[in-house]
Amino acid sequence: MQYDCDVIVVGSGAGGATFAAACAGAGKSVLVLERGDRYPVELPSQDEKAILIDKGPYDDREVDVNGRSSRLYMGGILGGGTSLYGGALLRPSEQDFQPGRYYGDRVPRAIWDWPIGYDELEPHYTEAERLFGVAGCGDEDFAPLKKPARGFPGAPLPLHPLNQRLMTANRARGLHPFHLPLAIDSSRCLRCAACAGYLCPTGARQSSAQLLETAMSRGQPIKVQTRVEVERLVREPGTGATLLSVVDRSTGRRRYYRARRYAIAAGAIGSSLLLLRSGMDHPLIGRNYMLHLGAIVFGVYPRTIDAGSTFVKQVGFADFYFGTRRFPHKMGVIQSLAVPGPLTVAKFAPLVPPPVRQFLRERILPLLGLIEDLPDPANRVTLGPDNQARLAHRYSRFDLARCKHMRPQLARILRRSGAMYFLSSRRNSREHVAHQCGTLRFGRDPAHAVLDPDCRMFANPDVFAVDGSFLPTSLGVGPGLTIIANALRVASKVVAEV
Ligand SMILES: Cc1cc2nc3c(=O)[nH]c(=O)nc-3n(C[C@H](O)[C@H](O)[C@H](O)COP(=O)(O)OP(=O)(O)OC[C@H]3O[C@@H](n4cnc5c(N)ncnc54)[C@H](O)[C@@H]3O)c2cc1C
Ligand code: SF4
Repeated sequence: MQYDCDVIVVGSGAGGATFAAACAGAGKSVLVLERGDRYPVELPSQDEKAILIDKGPYDDREVDVNGRSSRLYMGGILGGGTSLYGGALLRPSEQDFQPGRYYGDRVPRAIWDWPIGYDELEPHYTEAERLFGVAGCGDEDFAPLKKPARGFPGAPLPLHPLNQRLMTANRARGLHPFHLPLAIDSSRCLRCAACAGYLCPTGARQSSAQLLETAMSRGQPIKVQTRVEVERLVREPGTGATLLSVVDRSTGRRRYYRARRYAIAAGAIGSSLLLLRSGMDHPLIGRNYMLHLGAIVFGVYPRTIDAGSTFVKQVGFADFYFGTRRFPHKMGVIQSLAVPGPLTVAKFAPLVPPPVRQFLRERILPLLGLIEDLPDPANRVTLGPDNQARLAHRYSRFDLARCKHMRPQLARILRRSGAMYFLSSRRNSREHVAHQCGTLRFGRDPAHAVLDPDCRMFANPDVFAVDGSFLPTSLGVGPGLTIIANALRVASKVVAEV
């Protein structure tokens, strides 16, 4: 049988590009098919910079979310989410791999334990941190989160004075703040205010697109095509072999590709859509869609702190990861956020006069508390009658209760550094799906999982999924590092068998 290459990878985000670079580095011929452009259509001007307003480099498809058409904030360019992300790459806790310990009465027995434990991923976390140049302070206390045994590959940026105060004041009260591990090379960083949500102007923030460029510059056997959409997996008449049907978005021309193995990494929403369009009928495809629930509190300081004019996403806390004494329920990590840009503030507070908005922007600092939202089969990706994407999603009462409990913890942390007033939004955005995951979960039993423990489809042994769709639960930290580490783990299996 003639093959176009050993491995075809669909999507060039955190999982896809990492997997592709690892296979090419081991000498396998690889073709990466990416729906988005190599470069964004245009960068926002300095004036427009306002966190997550400009949608240029994001996916351009309309998705029906709970009955309303939306354009989602999910990476739609080479590098996927990692070309736009905040670069906070954290290891989870060991117990994140045993959801039954915390949610035994809320999730099915089949997912009480992930099919692999933390130990199996540990060497891949170390490699992921090296590849992405994660910078942090290895001697700080991250418990209950895991951290690299031999320290982080990079040194972090010096702390903004306010973050220094945030850490010192909270340490004095018995908390354990740490420098947020970031995939940012401090020697090239301009400390922009609008970092997450935009392309990095210097390349200081490591993206998976850079892994592909490095592999190509080293002459490894890898090809990358952009502006090509993988429509579906099809069976070749006669041989029954799996082929990919691919449309060139510039010319409209369709062609078929054949490889020994396929790695689907179009993002948790995109990968499940691809399998649904391919007529795959496993009942769990597209179900248990998760995206985290974010509790956000803004501390308002009595004097100008000007956190909105520089980089401030630098601090993390894991003290309430497993809840508090009075509320012993798992929640997630706390991390600082960038101050929203003027356009974002205007969008969320249209009735507030512009001078007041500006007054506030000069005095606020936000903190985000991540809540590990639970998988629910009713939260799902489906195809509409016109084959368009549909998302149905509601947070459970338990998710919302944990979010409600997280807010006062955030306010207390901010108060210790001098904040006097606190603002928070109760509204959850339909568009911010940055941490999408879970729609093709892995597991031991095909009755309860779409992928086997190696992330190979039970229904088709030539097809793997290496993006965020494999996660059975959403973790209490951002999914980026775990997606990258898992892609490296799966790549080692595929390399061994191709
Ligand atoms: C603004 C922002 C900030 C974030 N900050 C953080 C953070 O600080 N820490 C963290 O851990 N995570 C963060 N994330 C999330 C993180 O980036 C994602 O979890 C991660 O990139 C997901 O990787 P993935 O491989 O699942 O998919 P993605 O990275 O989303 O990549 C999927 C790729 O597939 C392509 N694609 C889709 N459909 C097709 C198709 N049919 N054919 C071909 N290609 C297709 C897409 O264009 C995209 O490039 C952030 C995300 C965003 C958007
Ligand atoms: S602050 Fe600016 S230069 Fe630094 S990593 Fe972020 S976008 Fe790049």
